[in-house]
Amino acid sequence: MPYPDFHYHKEFTFMTKKVAAITGASSGIGAETVRALVEADFSVYMGARRMSHLNVLAEKYGAIALPLDVTQTYSVQQFVNELPDSVQVLINNAGGALGLEPIVGMDENQWLNMYQSNVLGLARMSKALYPRLLADSSQVSHVVNIGSVAGFETYVGGAGYTACKHAVRAISETMRLEWLGKPIRVTEIDPGFVETEFSLTRFGGDAARANSVYAGMEPLSAADIADAIRWAVTRPAHVNIDSMVIRPLDQARVDKVFRR
Ligand code: NAP
Repeated sequence: MPYPDFHYHKEFTFMTKKVAAITGASSGIGAETVRALVEADFSVYMGARRMSHLNVLAEKYGAIALPLDVTQTYSVQQFVNELPDSVQVLINNAGGALGLEPIVGMDENQWLNMYQSNVLGLARMSKALYPRLLADSSQVSHVVNIGSVAGFETYVGGAGYTACKHAVRAISETMRLEWLGKPIRVTEIDPGFVETEFSLTRFGGDAARANSVYAGMEPLSAADIADAIRWAVTRPAHVNIDSMVIRPLDQARVDKVFRR
């Protein structure tokens, strides 16, 4: 028996809905993952700072909206306190990029904010949810970290963000080492260009600059990534999808894009 304390009862999973918590659910990949996991019959709890966006999704999909700022430990704790005692899936999605300045022009606040959400936020959420992920010994649970191709590639002006996503990669690998023997799967999803609010946020609301990122090429949609997440979390209990790198056909490397 590989897990002495772990007994997987197939019939139990038919009786109870699995619970998924999704961070950064107010737009983009997070919002599409809410839809995908509700469709896959999960009971979904979603968090972000923009409650108005979450309330729309709550109305549409029946998911539960909770305020969450992953950069604040008290907010993470409040979010987690509202979840059921047992949670099967945590999607660490909250994050993004700020700015595209070279290292010698770095804006320290932007770098700090990126670390706070992409790296520390992910670790805070995982730490706070860990007891709930292990609470039901009859089920395997799952942490899905949203990394990026920026987790193993670099580009000019991207150091603040690529360093964060390299850190996410290190954390995903370390989770698998530290939790070996526990019934928690760890998956990292590493997308290339996905058309969401990502570039608008990166460029401080400059829509023209954000749109130019995807000019003449066909990016991925948030639904493409949500589809992969749903697939990963619905594999049989003994199967762990370590990582998935998903790019548009028009993108060979983070900075090598075919434009028509
Ligand atoms: P997005 O549309 O901008 O979504 C980002 C989400 O993160 C929003 O829901 C935002 O919600 C939330 N968020 C940001 N800071 C937060 C905080 N402190 N606390 C809680 N929520 C926070 O962009 P996206 O593309 O879907 O990004 C989702 C993830 O995918 C990010 O980790 C990003 O790095 C990663 N990714 C994106 C791409 C891409 O090309 N789009 C590629 C690779 C990886 P609020 O502002 O309402 O809090």
